[in-house]
Amino acid sequence: MARYIGPVCKLCRREQAKLFLKGDRCYTDKCSYERRNHPPGQHGPNSRIKFSEYGLRLREKQKVRRVYGVLERQFRKYFAEADRTKGVTGENLLSLLERRLDGVIYRLGFASTRAEGRQLVLHCHVLVNGKRVNVPSYMVKVGDKVSIREKSREIPRIKESVTGAERRGQSTWLELDKASFTGTVKSLPVREENNAVAIKEQLIVEFYSR
Ligand code: SF4
Repeated sequence: MARYIGPVCKLCRREQAKLFLKGDRCYTDKCSYERRNHPPGQHGPNSRIKFSEYGLRLREKQKVRRVYGVLERQFRKYFAEADRTKGVTGENLLSLLERRLDGVIYRLGFASTRAEGRQLVLHCHVLVNGKRVNVPSYMVKVGDKVSIREKSREIPRIKESVTGAERRGQSTWLELDKASFTGTVKSLPVREENNAVAIKEQLIVEFYSR
């Protein structure tokens, strides 16, 4: 269960977009991308990179991978599944990524980032339909009830995240009951839900269809 553990603001600068990987800090003027919006590295400030078509597709794929905190091998598996599923491949891919349990915890507001959601899941603070699930890539289904374990509801970080959740936007496919720290999956996510970062999923499909 590998994951990226390097500096995350660098990823925003590499992708030349705000990826919202640092929670509340991303909404303040401390955001590193707001202050230095050039690519990282020695030549970053002077770089005038003109991407080839391949480069554009690669960057889009890397951006989405980084938003969802998924490494290449797993991302390829999601793509293969999206390709097998009926419908538009790019939209299927985003839907699969959205349904990951760590992302659902983030969308419900119990965590300020997906990485924090992942940690809550790994540390056994999360229940799905009343049962403990400690797999961040667990795929939620329609009707699932995702909640925070009763003993964990007093953790200050979780309480703070719930307070700041409105700023991060609500998802219409999830229904939150703040009092019981429980979210219900009302439907599968649709394309319009993935709105915090602009994503051109067609470029990812083209990347893997080379
Ligand atoms: Fe860092 Fe800004 Fe990116 Fe957030 S949006 S991870 S603060 S550069």
